[in-house]
Amino acid sequence: MFLDENGKKVAEKLKTRTLCGNCLGRMFGRVGTGFTNIHRAEIVSLETGSKFVGAEQCELCNGIFAKIEHYARIAIELMDTVEWHTFLVGSRFDEEILAKEEKIVIDAGATNAESIKVEFNRELGKKISELTGKRADFSEPDCVVIMDTRFDTAHLEVRPLFLFGRYRKFSREIPQTRWLCRNCRGKGCRRCNWKGKMYETSVQELVATKVIEATGGKEHFFHGMGREDIDVRMLGNGRPFILEIREPVKRTLDVGKLEQEINEFARGRVEVEGLKLVSGKLVEKIKEEKATKRYQAIVEFASQILPEKLENAINELREKDIYQKTPNRVLHRRSDLTRKRRVHDLKLCWLRGHIAQLEIECDAGTYVKEFVSGDQGRTTPSIAELTGVPCRVQTLDVIRINDMLEE
Ligand SMILES: [Zn+2]
Ligand SMILES: [Zn+2]
Repeated sequence: MFLDENGKKVAEKLKTRTLCGNCLGRMFGRVGTGFTNIHRAEIVSLETGSKFVGAEQCELCNGIFAKIEHYARIAIELMDTVEWHTFLVGSRFDEEILAKEEKIVIDAGATNAESIKVEFNRELGKKISELTGKRADFSEPDCVVIMDTRFDTAHLEVRPLFLFGRYRKFSREIPQTRWLCRNCRGKGCRRCNWKGKMYETSVQELVATKVIEATGGKEHFFHGMGREDIDVRMLGNGRPFILEIREPVKRTLDVGKLEQEINEFARGRVEVEGLKLVSGKLVEKIKEEKATKRYQAIVEFASQILPEKLENAINELREKDIYQKTPNRVLHRRSDLTRKRRVHDLKLCWLRGHIAQLEIECDAGTYVKEFVSGDQGRTTPSIAELTGVPCRVQTLDVIRINDMLEE
């Protein structure tokens, strides 16, 4: 027997209703496995003498399950405006239908009922698969189609593309991300010369332009593993980033070719390597990664400095913790805190007169310029403090990021 005693009572109470096979069967949707709800309705009918009606006469669903193919075609037409391989279905129903279903379930005590949305989404998904040969994906579908059964319209959500890579930046005039004009916030005004931006371009724009062309995407977001100041070059193994492309029309990419196109376009300013499509879950990981970095700095002292004096200061500071209050130059936008950072390595490359080149390896988030200058005592100890000679960074380059994302 399919129905137990309680199931029979439910079936008995439902005899006052006019339900189609799907809706009657759904009232027993969690009884048994491997059945469609129509099968369930047939069995219930055999065991209890219940009747069910054709879809159009159903008092609950108004014949929605007879129109699954109609909905599937609406969905596919919309999904086919973009490239997709996997999908997921959602739906919206008239509040009246949902309320009515709830009342029928409660009145009959149908504790094993399934909801109309669940059945509809499943049946629509099966039909879309059948018509297209593509499969549903419950974790990271290329697109999600939401069928609004009230108006027979569909809404499409396309999963963004996430393109991982590493970038090098050879310019001291380019910020990492697009920087909107503070005055007009992107609209364009006299102050930004009607560009809407503070800077002509950015690493983000130099990388994204060709990717937008290749994907037909609408918008781009840049997630860097930290960032360097505008006047700092990013050399060496490059900085990991993920470029997020919203609403891509095309999602199969020849990343090798794309890399060439980007490097051609951004020549002399930015270069990328190791491009590959990744899961969006990697964005969090990249943002959280706290990699130490190695810098090369040209340091200018206020006066000539003896090599021994500088060597002594360097030996003193190597593998030491330093304490940095929020630098004066960023105090207007960051709260005033003291941060402890470690100088893992420090090396003098050369010293000529009052100019020296140093290599500095330190924790993520170290303010390197302030480690050199001391920032009027806000960073301590510092090169200026230990040498006793005022000094400042003339130019700074990141020459290696020691992240764990290497292949
Ligand atoms: Zn029905
Ligand atoms: Zn402006």
